Amino acid sequence: MLSIKNLHASVEDKQILKGLNLEVKAGEVHAIMGPNGAGKSTLGNVLAGRDSYEVTEGSALLDGVDLLDLAPEDRAREGLFLAFQYPVEIPGVSNINFLKTAVNDIREYKGLPPMEAKEFLQAVKEKQKLVEFSANLANRSLNEGFSGGEKKRNEIFQLAMLNPKLAILDETDSGLDIDALRIVANGVNQLRSQDNAFVVITHYQRLLDYIVPDFVHVLYNGRIVKTGPKELALELEEKGYDWLKEYDTQTA
Ligand code: ADP
Ligand code: MG
Ligand code: MG
Repeated sequence: MLSIKNLHASVEDKQILKGLNLEVKAGEVHAIMGPNGAGKSTLGNVLAGRDSYEVTEGSALLDGVDLLDLAPEDRAREGLFLAFQYPVEIPGVSNINFLKTAVNDIREYKGLPPMEAKEFLQAVKEKQKLVEFSANLANRSLNEGFSGGEKKRNEIFQLAMLNPKLAILDETDSGLDIDALRIVANGVNQLRSQDNAFVVITHYQRLLDYIVPDFVHVLYNGRIVKTGPKELALELEEKGYDWLKEYDTQTA
C-alpha cells in the first residue's frame, strides 16, 4: 500500500531524512519510534506535502501513485490522512460542515455524487460513537474550545468519516489522559481493516499497549535503522535510543 524508497528530505537546507525506506501493506499497523528530532514528524509532513519540506531524492508510492508528485489536497483525495492535519481551530465552521465538504470532495474526486444528507447524518451518528462524542461535540465549531483530549478524539472522528487508505497518527497520544487514550485507541482498533493501514508515530510505548502494531520501526537520524515485532517497543522503553547509534552508520 505504502512504499517509501530512499527518501531524502530537507527543511531550510538542513537534511533531515537521509534515505528512509518503509513498506506498509494493507491491513497492517506500523509504529515508528525514535528520539526527539530524528525526523518522525518530518516524515509525516513530507508525505502530506507541507510547505517548507523539500524532497531531494526518493519516492513514496500509495497504491502505486507517487504522492510526492501530487498537490497536498490530491494526496488526501488519494486516501492519505495525517492526524493533526486539521488541529486548527476554525471558529464559525462547524465540525460537521467541515466534514461534509471533505467527504464530498473525496467522493467527487472518485467520480461519486455527494452523499445524501440522511446517509451523511447516519454516518456521523455511527462514527461519533466510536470516539464517545455527543452530538453536541460533533456539531461544535471546528476544534473551538475543545480540550486536548477532545481534539485528539476529533481527529479519530474525522478519520472515521473520511475512511482513508492510509492514516498517519503523529503523537496522537501526547498529552492524553488514560481515558482519552483508551477512547482514541479503541477508535483506531475498530477502524482497522484489511483495506487500510496505519502508521502510528509515538514517543512512548504506552499507546502500543492499546494499539498493537504488527511492526515497530526505529527512526534514528533520518533513517529507519531497526525494525522488529511489537516487543521492540518495550526494549526501547527500557534501553532508550543511545544503543542504536551503531546501527546508524551500519544501516543504509
Ligand atoms: P521528531 O518528530 O522525530 O521529533 P522532527 O521531524 O520534528 O523530529 O524534526 C527533525 C529535525 O528537523 C529537527 O532538528 C527539527 O528542528 C527540524 N525541523 C522540523 N521541522 C522544521 C521546520 N518547519 N523548520 C525548521 N526546522 C525543522
Ligand atoms: Mg519531536
Ligand atoms: Mg515529532
